[in-house]
Order: sequence, then structure tokens, then C-alpha cells
Amino acid sequence: MRIVLLGAPGAGKGTQAELISEKYGIPHISTGDILREAVRQGTELGKSAQTYMSKGELVPDDVVIGIAAERIDQPDTKNGFLLDGFPRTVVQAEALDKALAERNQRLDAVVNLEVDEDEVVRRLGGRKLCAKCGAIHTAASGATCEQCGEELITRADDQPEAIRRRLQVYKDQTEPLVGYYDRAGILKRIPAVGSVEEVFERVSRTLDSLT
Ligand code: AMP
Repeated sequence: MRIVLLGAPGAGKGTQAELISEKYGIPHISTGDILREAVRQGTELGKSAQTYMSKGELVPDDVVIGIAAERIDQPDTKNGFLLDGFPRTVVQAEALDKALAERNQRLDAVVNLEVDEDEVVRRLGGRKLCAKCGAIHTAASGATCEQCGEELITRADDQPEAIRRRLQVYKDQTEPLVGYYDRAGILKRIPAVGSVEEVFERVSRTLDSLT
């Protein structure tokens, strides 16, 4: 199963992606995670990506297209993959279609997690990330990770100014993908309200109906 997960920042893509990946046995591919890892390691890619990421801007298309193409060629994608945070522009979506067609593959579904803007701002403002294992905590009560005990941090791009910019960038550059995939007949709209479990139940029902 080859799936793309769409949705505004804070719609819960990362959380749902982990659950989908586990249930359907397909790797969770997040270009954001790959870029953050490059930043952490201080590679050339990381250094150039960081300037865009910390401001809430998109990393240039050719850079992310290269990263995604390389990743979907790894052997663990034999039975499919779940893309989270890619594509984010129409140029990226067209490049993905082309890359898949060259491999005689195509997307099975694009899951759009729909959530209203006020909710997104509220969620992102309170979001924390574990400095070690990367686990996301939306309603963090303590200062340490429930999974590994490390310190929780706020992502640089979850600061108020960057949040506003990311939402604007999402509207301008990523939202057009909803129409793009709707026209392709593979868009699945999922209301991303309620608990993580409730949202996952809706996602599961949709994905189960594909097979
Ligand atoms: P995410 O974790 O998906 O929210 O991504 C964090 C940041 O990484 C984004 O705000 C962008 O700066 C960058 N990024 C991740 N994926 C992409 C993409 N497909 N295209 C451009 N920039 C991206």
C-alpha cells in the first residue's frame, strides 16, 4: 500500500503515521524527520535546510524531491510506504507521480486529515518534542519524555512566529494538493477531530476498504 498523508501542521500527521505504519507494516517516511536528523548531524544538507526550517519556510523542491526519491528506493518499501510531509507542493506531487510511474507504481490513497485552524494553532503552541527519541507530546504535563525519560523541547518551528508562517505556507503551497489528488480520484477526507484512537479508527476503515 502506497499512501500519502496530507494535512495542516498540527493536524496529527506524525501520530497517525506511526499507527498506520505499525498496523499496515509499511515504513513511515517523514521528510521533516530526515531533515531534522541531517540538522542534528550537522551535514551540508542539514546546514542549508536549517535556515528554511527554523523560519517555517519550505526547503527547496529539488532538495526534498531528491531525499524522497532516494528513500522510496530503499528495500523496506517493497510492500509500500507512508509519506508524511511529502509532497508539500504541486511540483513535488508531480515529481512523485513521475518517480512512481518510472517504477511502475502508483499511489493507492491520499489521506487528508482535516482540522480547523484554531485547533491547529492551539495544538502547535503546546507541542513538545523529545530531544532524544523524537516522540511528540501534544499535551505534555511534565518536562521529560514519557517514553524514554529525556528532556522535552519545543521545536524551533513551533515558536509563534514560525507557526504563523508555516500555516500561511501550508495554505499557499500545500493546500492545492487537496484538489490535485481529488482530481486524481484518490483523495480520502478524514475529520481529524476527537481522540487519536477515534481518528485512527476512521483512517483504518478507509484504508481497509482499499484492499
Ligand atoms: P514537518 O516535520 O513535516 O512539519 O517538517 C518540518 C519542516 O521541514 C517544514 O516546515 C519544512 O521547512 C521542512 N520540510 C519537511 N518536508 C518538506 C517538504 N516536503 N518540502 C519542503 N520542506 C519540507
